[in-house]
Amino acid sequence: MNTVETNIALAGLTSFGIAAKAQQLMRVDSVADVLQVLKAAEADAVPLTVLGGGSNVLCTHDVRGMVMKIEIMGRRIVAEDDATVTVEFGAGESWHDVVAWTVENGWGGLENLALIPGTVGAAPMQNIGAYGTEQASCAVSVTYVDRRTHTMHTLDADACAFGYRESVFKHALRDVAIITSVRYRLQRHPTVNTTYADVRNELQVRGVAAPTIRDVFDAVVAIRTRKLPDPAVIGNAGSFFKNPVVDAETYTRLRSANADMPAYPQADGTYKLAAAWLIDQCGWKGHRDGDAGVHVNQALVLVNYGGATGRQILELSKRIVASVHDAFGVTLEREVNVW
Ligand code: FAD
Ligand code: NAP
Repeated sequence: MNTVETNIALAGLTSFGIAAKAQQLMRVDSVADVLQVLKAAEADAVPLTVLGGGSNVLCTHDVRGMVMKIEIMGRRIVAEDDATVTVEFGAGESWHDVVAWTVENGWGGLENLALIPGTVGAAPMQNIGAYGTEQASCAVSVTYVDRRTHTMHTLDADACAFGYRESVFKHALRDVAIITSVRYRLQRHPTVNTTYADVRNELQVRGVAAPTIRDVFDAVVAIRTRKLPDPAVIGNAGSFFKNPVVDAETYTRLRSANADMPAYPQADGTYKLAAAWLIDQCGWKGHRDGDAGVHVNQALVLVNYGGATGRQILELSKRIVASVHDAFGVTLEREVNVW
């Protein structure tokens, strides 16, 4: 196991690039390491924080105690038949690299989720999703260490309670489960998912009439590269807020006052609204308070122009929530994890 690193700058380990420090940091590349760090943190009576790729966290202060950085690697076929391949991935694997690898192998299911930053272990946390797919659509099971008992558990996908940017790991198992591996079932003869308008348009522009998973992967990479701010250039953690899901009555009220408001009907009769549209209507797109801002093209993405503190970003986010609530009566929920 690697040694304890002390007083570590988190700016380079988190995509917001906020200047905060971790009192102690240990990189773990095996389950045995996880257990050892757990024991050490308990023996020293210090808090333990789990870090993957740092692309969904906002540091509002230095992190006390121990940060455990998950670097458990591994890609292992655990089952296969004529139609499917089930692969277990170590929690520290890069999500995008894993998606690219499945596409190279001709295994379908994850291609719409190309270029999402971060690790495999964090993917089930908020059930990452994009361009009409969620990781839940391929997830078979999630294996984790229980921080309270130091025991290993495996939950099948149903028990993970995946929902829109939701899972049991954000609720009953928050601060309990340290995810060490995830299994995904992939299709040998995949059907592509082009339900998302941006993907269809990109394929059309490329002159692709009968897209393969490689075509969809390439299209998503191209769209995302064009549309989304690169954290290497400007600090951000992707969407800061979730898209609000409202009941039919609220939808009807809002729609009658805003005929151009985007809304997506859900299977259960609710409507998903586009948080970016609501924020944009309140005039926030491109807003800047010092080095904390709202991206010029993506109202859902808060950015650090270089010297913003986590508190400044958080304050800005609260003002946005208040103004959207005043204008529409809808409360935006945060997607990013605040430390
Ligand atoms: P981290 O930021 O390190 O951690 C996130 C949370 O999970 C923290 O609370 C952490 O404690 C916990 N955690 C991390 N690893 C583990 C583990 N192994 N076990 C237990 N807990 C753990 N998200 C989407 O859903 N869809 C998108 O399209 C998308 N696009 C993005 C685009 C950009 C430019 C950026 C910066 C972010 C985007 N995100 C998107 C958000 C982010 O990439 C995902 O949430 C990703 O899964 C976070 O992974 P991570 O390893 O960086 O997690
Ligand atoms: P977009 O295409 O401008 O669309 C705006 C919103 O409308 C999206 O949030 C999306 O919800 C919803 N939407 C669009 N078409 C839809 C459809 N056919 N069915 C249901 N909902 C639809 O969005 P964008 O900002 O460029 O992002 C593109 C994709 O990447 C989205 O899926 C988004 O979630 C994902 N993304 C996520 C993050 C993050 O950090 N979470 C960051 C960047 C991009 P959904 O978000 O539910 O798809």
